[in-house]
Amino acid sequence: MTTVYLNGELVPIERATVSVLDRGFIFGDGVYEVIPVYGRRPFRLAEHLARLQASMDGIRLANPYATETWTKLIGNLIDQHEWSEQSVYIQVTRGAAPRNHAFPKDAKPTTFIMTGPLSVPSREEKERGVDAITLNDYRWIRCNIKSTALLANCLLKQAAVEAGCAEAILLRDGFLTEGSSTNIFVVKGNLLLAPPKSHLILPGITYDVVIELARAHGMPLEVRPVSESEVRSADELWLSSSSKEVLAITELDGKSVGNGKPGPLYKKMLGYFEASKAVRSTAPVHA
Ligand code: PMP
Repeated sequence: MTTVYLNGELVPIERATVSVLDRGFIFGDGVYEVIPVYGRRPFRLAEHLARLQASMDGIRLANPYATETWTKLIGNLIDQHEWSEQSVYIQVTRGAAPRNHAFPKDAKPTTFIMTGPLSVPSREEKERGVDAITLNDYRWIRCNIKSTALLANCLLKQAAVEAGCAEAILLRDGFLTEGSSTNIFVVKGNLLLAPPKSHLILPGITYDVVIELARAHGMPLEVRPVSESEVRSADELWLSSSSKEVLAITELDGKSVGNGKPGPLYKKMLGYFEASKAVRSTAPVHA
């Protein structure tokens, strides 16, 4: 039985309900976070909570809790479940109110936290890599906000799945933005390339980890706009996210990336990443 947190209470997931007038349901008027938990410790919790705050600021929604309260609530929920590796999902919406696009004056935000077992890529996926297609990035231009309004991302991901691929790599005006649910890195020779943070991509927590690890290990890195032709002629392509960690993309639009196998820089980065998971998780939190 999974227990979730909803508006101040811990309840079995089957009994957790929200109003049909919730603006999250009606408008997608909410924000969310996904936090991986390794060895019962939330990974990069402070960074996830800071991004949640930034997302709330981005949609002008007051944060219902202070960081310490979030930390306790998340720690309590982790403690309720037996899995050592978990994936904590947080969602805050603008709450229930009569349907009207303009903000309600007195709605109370709906605050929801759930957790489940973390499903990371299989060994086979890590060893063989995954396939991707390129698609035109037709999302809105506030992609730095982690909004629950993910219709465009869902359509783009579904197109990738129907093409037998794991991810859609998105291009806007001739430049790489990100994946439908991941950040994307490009390797050219010895050089790692990452698109800079902007309103066109989500500032991934895993993206930051990859960049920090590249810098810490002296891997040549340029954070700058990456052109479509650099994506198409890449020696290696990687995707990153909290649930996929770092994965090699070994086929793009039906053509091999490099020699069609995860490349040498990827293997190095995967090693750095695995090692960092243990040391960079914050201490266990208890209420
Ligand atoms: N971009 C998009 C569009 C995403 O949905 C995600 C995953 N939430 C990411 C990037 C990766 O972010 P993170 O590393 O924080 O999971």
